[in-house]
Amino acid sequence: MTPQPKYERIVLKLSGEDPPGRGSFGIDTERVKALADEIAEVAKTGVQIGLVVGGGNFFRGVAAAAMDMDRVAADHMGMLATVINALALQDALEKAGAPTRVMTAIQMHQVAEPYIRRRAIRHMEKGRIVIFAAGTSNPYFSTDTAATLRALEIHANVIAKGTRVEGVYDKDPLRHTDAILYPKISYHEVLTKALKVMDASAIAMCRDNQLPVVVFNLNVFGNIMRMSMGEPIGTLIH
Ligand code: UDP
Repeated sequence: MTPQPKYERIVLKLSGEDPPGRGSFGIDTERVKALADEIAEVAKTGVQIGLVVGGGNFFRGVAAAAMDMDRVAADHMGMLATVINALALQDALEKAGAPTRVMTAIQMHQVAEPYIRRRAIRHMEKGRIVIFAAGTSNPYFSTDTAATLRALEIHANVIAKGTRVEGVYDKDPLRHTDAILYPKISYHEVLTKALKVMDASAIAMCRDNQLPVVVFNLNVFGNIMRMSMGEPIGTLIH
C-alpha cells in the first residue's frame, strides 16, 4: 500500500531568497525546477498544496525604506516581486506535470486569478496547486503573515516553512556552531525568546488559532515529502 500523507491540506511557505533566488538577486531556474519537481511528486500523493512564495530575491520593503524610500511604495514593490516568483514556480510546476493556479491578492486579471477563498479551496479539491501571490495585499506585512492568513482561511492543517537550516535553533546556526535545534517548541517560547523564524505577527496568529507550523530544511531533497507524510523532521511549533 502506498503511504498516505498525514495532512489533507498544507500551506508551504517558500522564502524568495531560498528557492527562486538562492540568496542572490533574480531567479535560479535550476533550483526552481528541482523544487517544482519535488512539490509535484508530493501533490501526486493526494495532499492538497497551497504555496506562498516570498519576494526577497527581488525586493524587501523594509530594506528599501531604510534607504529612504517610502515604506508603502516599497512594500507594494515587494508584493509585486512575489508575483514574479509565483509565475516562475507555476511554469516549473506545470512542466513537472502538476496543474496549478496563481491567485493574487492584488488584482491583475491579465496575469492571474484574483484571490477568492472559496475558489481557492475548490481548485485544491480538484487537485490543483494554488500559488498565493502578492502577499496579503497590505503593506507592513510579510509573506509569513500571508501564509498564516491563507492557511487559516482555507483550513489548512499545517504551515510548512522551508528554510536553509534544519529548523528552529536557540541561536543562529549559521553563525554559532553550538546552536541547539529544537525538535518542538511552543509559540510562546518563539515569541519570548525572539527566535527569528517567522515574524511575530505570524507566530501570534498561529498561536491564537492553534495552527501548527513545521520548520524544515528545504535544501534537503525529499524533505517536503517527509514533512507531508508526518515524519518528525525539523521543528514543530505548536
Ligand atoms: N509584503 C508586504 N505585504 C505582504 C507581503 C509582503 O508588504 O502581505 C512585501 C514586503 O515589502 C516584503 C516583500 O513583500 O519585504 C517580500 O516578502 P518577504 O520579505 O516576506 O519575502 P521573503 O523574505 O519570504 O523572501
